[in-house]
Amino acid sequence: MLIDSHAHLDSPRYAEDREALLHRAWDAGVRTILSIGIGEGPETMHQALEISRQYKDQPEIPRIFASAGIHPHEASLADDAAYAKLDQLLQQPEVIACGEIGLDYYYDNSPRDIQKAAFRRQMEIAAARQQPIIIHCRPSENSTNAWDDTLDLLEAQWKRTGLGGILHCFTGEWDHARRALDAGFLISFAGNITFPKAQPIRDAASQVPLDCILVETDAPFLAPVPNRGKRNEPAFVREVAAKLAELRQIDSEAAASRTTENFHRFFGTAPQLES
Ligand SMILES: [Zn+2]
Ligand SMILES: [Zn+2]
Repeated sequence: MLIDSHAHLDSPRYAEDREALLHRAWDAGVRTILSIGIGEGPETMHQALEISRQYKDQPEIPRIFASAGIHPHEASLADDAAYAKLDQLLQQPEVIACGEIGLDYYYDNSPRDIQKAAFRRQMEIAAARQQPIIIHCRPSENSTNAWDDTLDLLEAQWKRTGLGGILHCFTGEWDHARRALDAGFLISFAGNITFPKAQPIRDAASQVPLDCILVETDAPFLAPVPNRGKRNEPAFVREVAAKLAELRQIDSEAAASRTTENFHRFFGTAPQLES
């Protein structure tokens, strides 16, 4: 039984075959997906929730939870209407987290001070609604700048809430993971854990306590080897779990079940019983 803790099921790249893709995920053993609700900007951040509702209780389709948030790329589009919409979405029962939010200094699609302001404001909204947060963090090339700023903000503003969250698609160093773990976060690894040059990510994945690890695809992006470069999809989370198993010297089923347990324990959600 596998979980994909981070997939963009609302991507337009799935418009033609979303249902078939969900069946493929089921056939691969995926029973739960967290559908990330950033849309293509605040205007469409409700789409993940709609997908969660659309496929609810369908046979041979994983259970789909949703999040809602304003990605740092779109921070400059965050106005009062967007924050009000986010607040509304966070009150829906299918929405179990605020995200992905954070800082992206690699693309700098929004100015950094605006990214920080949107990040902080969303942490306030999430705290008021008692929702954990999903963090996107990407520093500039050969730098840890976004990690330093993200962790400083989490420690200053978020840690005290006790709500924790997920560091998604972790690419930092062990020290960043350790600070996040101290702040109540789970660390989620994505398909780049399989890339030949990603030894630092594998080193971190070897050290994070097994009860604090999740796996994800970040589909449609970042397909793991052997599908690297193709459109990613939740079924491929199997390759991420297999690589994690190899690193931790446990079998694939154990990696799958441990990460699934971690998700449900953290969110207080119930796993689907049948296999
Ligand atoms: Zn991200
Ligand atoms: Zn994402």
